[in-house]
Amino acid sequence: MKGPEFVLLSTGAKMPIVGLGTWKSEPGKVTAAVTKALEVGYRHLDCAFVYQNENEVGEGIQQKFKEGVLKREELFVTSKLWSTYHDKSMVRGACEKTLAALKLDYLDLYLIHWPTGFKAGDALFPTDEQGLVIPSDTHFLNTWEGMEELVDAGLVKAIGISNFNHCQVEQLLNKPGLKYKPAVNQIECHPYLTQNKLIEYCQSKGIAVTAYSPLGSPDRPWAKPEDPSLLEEPKIKDIAAKHKKTAAQVLIRFHIQRNVVVIPKSVTAARIEENFQVFDFELTPDEMKDIFSFERGWRVCALSSAKKHQDYPFNAEF
Ligand code: NDP
Repeated sequence: MKGPEFVLLSTGAKMPIVGLGTWKSEPGKVTAAVTKALEVGYRHLDCAFVYQNENEVGEGIQQKFKEGVLKREELFVTSKLWSTYHDKSMVRGACEKTLAALKLDYLDLYLIHWPTGFKAGDALFPTDEQGLVIPSDTHFLNTWEGMEELVDAGLVKAIGISNFNHCQVEQLLNKPGLKYKPAVNQIECHPYLTQNKLIEYCQSKGIAVTAYSPLGSPDRPWAKPEDPSLLEEPKIKDIAAKHKKTAAQVLIRFHIQRNVVVIPKSVTAARIEENFQVFDFELTPDEMKDIFSFERGWRVCALSSAKKHQDYPFNAEF
């Protein structure tokens, strides 16, 4: 009954199927979250420049290296290029900043965080008077060349994308002179947004998929009381009770059985541990079917401030 613990990437690397998410993990809490995760067996951390806590994530990693709990080659670290660094000439500097903060000399995976380039500068979300994001004149096909250079320079082992729709993935795969294809597409995925078509498309092209916001991101800053709540769904709770598991564990297990990498976030020690206890049970085909029936096209991260951007990903069907 032990589930797969890794997803094999097109580069040949093994990506641990459960990782720790770090968006919204406060700098004052994330170091302890990372050390806890590494103690209970996590070997995969999901980071990003825009989370503004990579320095503190790096402190947690360093602590465990120093204690001899694990070696660099046993850990899989992902980070992401922020949208204000899409100009090809800025990609290397952005990656080096992330590496310095994490105190690492390479990343296992570096993703273009969003297909949309934003105006370069200090503001992470440069916006106009209507609150809409100000685009850059870059295109992700050019940004990708900067990403490829990072592989050749040895700064990253693999490169990928995040929040790309299937047309954008296809555009990248068809890019003339493509040197490295994306190893991973990291997308929002949970029972309210099951992403069947996009996952099938990516996996058929040898691109692994990572599911973000697997618990429905209850701590998302824009949550409204009337929003649906995955962790409170009675049917999910029933399935969990049958397996003597929690709703969160069922929501995480759902991805493992699709060969999709999953990165739940927590800064709570008991939950970090709980979210990793997902390799000792199996959802039945009927339970998987029930979970799929929650599909409602509901997104945590719609990036609506970029909805007028020419590369906005969520107008396409998938
Ligand atoms: P999640 O769906 O992982 O939910 C996190 C929330 O769930 C937190 O409030 C956490 O609380 C709570 N939680 C965690 N475990 C449990 C549990 N066992 N029982 C009850 N509540 C629990 O949301 P995220 O949006 O953070 O997504 C996960 C990760 O995906 C991010 O952290 C980030 O790394 C990545 N991501 C990537 C994006 C992209 O654009 N590529 C966009 C969004 C996310 P607490 O921490 O207080 O314990």
